[in-house]
Amino acid sequence: MSNTIETIGIIGAGQMGGGIAHVAALAGYNVLVYDISSDRIEKGIATVSGNMARQVAGGKLAEEDRKAALGRISAAHNMADLAGADLVIEAATEDETIKRKIYAQLCPLLNPEAILATNTSSISITRLAAQTDRPERFIGIHFMNPVPVMKLVELVRGIATEDKTFEAAKEFVHKLDKTTTVSEDFPAFIVNRILLPMINEAIYTLYEGVGTVEAIDTAMRLGANHPMGPLQLADFIGLDTCLSIMQVLHEGLSDSKYRPCPLLVKYVEAGWLGRKTGRGFYDYRGEHPVPTR
Ligand code: NAD
Repeated sequence: MSNTIETIGIIGAGQMGGGIAHVAALAGYNVLVYDISSDRIEKGIATVSGNMARQVAGGKLAEEDRKAALGRISAAHNMADLAGADLVIEAATEDETIKRKIYAQLCPLLNPEAILATNTSSISITRLAAQTDRPERFIGIHFMNPVPVMKLVELVRGIATEDKTFEAAKEFVHKLDKTTTVSEDFPAFIVNRILLPMINEAIYTLYEGVGTVEAIDTAMRLGANHPMGPLQLADFIGLDTCLSIMQVLHEGLSDSKYRPCPLLVKYVEAGWLGRKTGRGFYDYRGEHPVPTR
């Protein structure tokens, strides 16, 4: 088997799938983007185009490179359109049932040598791999949000992941000009194992009335020198994703210190998922974000 990766398939055209398409196309890969509807795919690609245009306006990207990169991104309206991909990165909603269904449908369509990666923030790579026909060629390639800006990618091997797969994934990530760290396959890996309990604690701090949204975010920005407050960051990540990660930590490590804050659950139940739905700990529908509590 050759490790040559030329065509990348991406499943899920949301914040992460779009970001991965963005950096992969700029690095010269052909990119196929799939989602549950053509609308979502088109919206995802339009967002990539807009984000690249912002890079051009900021002098970080040449217009001709933007055009060339966009020319390398195509919509995959059917999953079968991903058949020619050398590497498929699944960046669909953080829900194990959804991911399992995707793999069941996708695997029979793929080249047997193709590598299947997941961008999951927290779910066991070994367990996801076991649900595919290729646990040896399955790996976690965990990008950070926003993908074009963040330098780190965590690589997570499942118990069956072959060295060849790991090396190919590492080479791919380095071609995107990103730095890799290796995490063992434990719930939420390294970054989110540390970050999400901090965010959850910030939500408890709000829930218990210790501080307002503004006080908590200002405290951590100016008092701990974080570039964003934890509630602002939670909105940015997506509150559904934050809740899923806390649930994975809670169930996976069976430790009550990871219990999701009931207020986080309530926001998700309300459909206030943060920036992507226009409302979370802040309301983004006006000119400036306004705290919702
Ligand atoms: P998102 O909600 O922005 O996008 C998810 C996309 O998946 C949506 O467009 C949705 O339509 C699509 N989808 C759902 N079911 C699908 C299916 N059956 N087939 C194809 N597409 C489907 O979410 P996101 O923030 O982009 O997160 C995606 C993945 O990346 C999750 O596993 C998440 O844990 C992980 N992740 C998220 C972040 C973050 O900060 N948001 C960071 C790192 C990793």
